[in-house]
Amino acid sequence: MNSYDDLENKYLLLTPGPLSTSATVRRAMHKDWCTWDQEYNGLVEEIRHKLIAMATTEVDDFTAILMQGSGSFSVEAVLGSVIPKQGKLLIIHNGAYGTRMMQMAACLNIEYFDLAYAETQMPDLEEIETALLDPSITHVACVHCETTTGILNPIAEIGRLVKAQNKIWIVDAMSSFGGVPMDIAALEIDFLISSANKCIQGVPGFGFVLAKRQVLEQCQGFARSVSLDLYDQWQTMEKHHGKWRFTSPTHVVRAFYQALIELEHEGGVTARYQRYSTNQQCLAAGMQALGFERVLDETCTQSPIISTFLYPQDVNFDFYAFYENLKSAGFVIYPGKVSNLDCFRIGNIGEVYLSDIEKLLTAIAAYCQSNLHIKVSA
Ligand SMILES: *Cc1c(COP(=O)(O)O)cnc(C)c1O
Repeated sequence: MNSYDDLENKYLLLTPGPLSTSATVRRAMHKDWCTWDQEYNGLVEEIRHKLIAMATTEVDDFTAILMQGSGSFSVEAVLGSVIPKQGKLLIIHNGAYGTRMMQMAACLNIEYFDLAYAETQMPDLEEIETALLDPSITHVACVHCETTTGILNPIAEIGRLVKAQNKIWIVDAMSSFGGVPMDIAALEIDFLISSANKCIQGVPGFGFVLAKRQVLEQCQGFARSVSLDLYDQWQTMEKHHGKWRFTSPTHVVRAFYQALIELEHEGGVTARYQRYSTNQQCLAAGMQALGFERVLDETCTQSPIISTFLYPQDVNFDFYAFYENLKSAGFVIYPGKVSNLDCFRIGNIGEVYLSDIEKLLTAIAAYCQSNLHIKVSA
């Protein structure tokens, strides 16, 4: 097969990563790179510096480590590399990504204790404060934007409780970093995890960890895996100025560099946050007008990243027919992930603008009118 017919984007991905990227990010992948050449390693160093500058003004206290694989590999690299054998992890969770951290801890033989909340519920700060009184707990982990629903967990408030008890604070900010303003020094985060294909709008292939130097320096020899040894990867990147230990996704790294430049041109994280928020607010209002109910109620903080809607009631709603219809109209949405609830998700991140959301709403209105016989007032 030598056809390139399927290489044009025919629809927009309204999914929380991989997401729709710009044509220029994709074009940045046209060149092949040598992994030990200075030109490539210099690119990696620049990316590491840009990530830290984006995360905090206290740039000297933090360092960035890039890690091969999808975002989960970086989460597993942190859990497996920074908790000593006698350590104990508290996992606060209200969704699939928090649950995945428990699965990792169990598999890696890390002792853990978990505080579980419903996917449609904010974590309880008083309960967390009480749990933190356990002196055997050394580390605490939580997801920032739980992509399962789009809920934004209160990491500033939880972080204050974690630090009041001097525990090490790990945040999975996979789907929020780059799209929601934050300062990791002010938030007292010791390890923040994100990946190339979320709010920075790169393509999939690696994740990254922003770590407090002082804390990471204590982690030598803790790793439970060779490939996912965060400390060793860091040492190699530091000592060899941007060299990865094993084969790195070179094209993906170059595309990520381009994505960082485009984020700067857009006006940085604040401007991107504005765009995503505008997208989300327009979507929420438009869906409400069409009679769709959101899964998260007003007690939950809704992120600008992704929204979850219930299937419409009292009509014969077939999600796959709806999905296919929207796909042919140029939009790919996401199935739901909340247990025991019939729902679907629509993401607002990536190369997606207000005019795209307006067109999507027009397509959804047309579907509702012709297939669900729901009267729609335009
Ligand atoms: C995307 C995501 C991950 C990582 O998922 P991968 O499929 O491994 O990239 C982890 N946590 C959250 C909150 C995410 O949104």
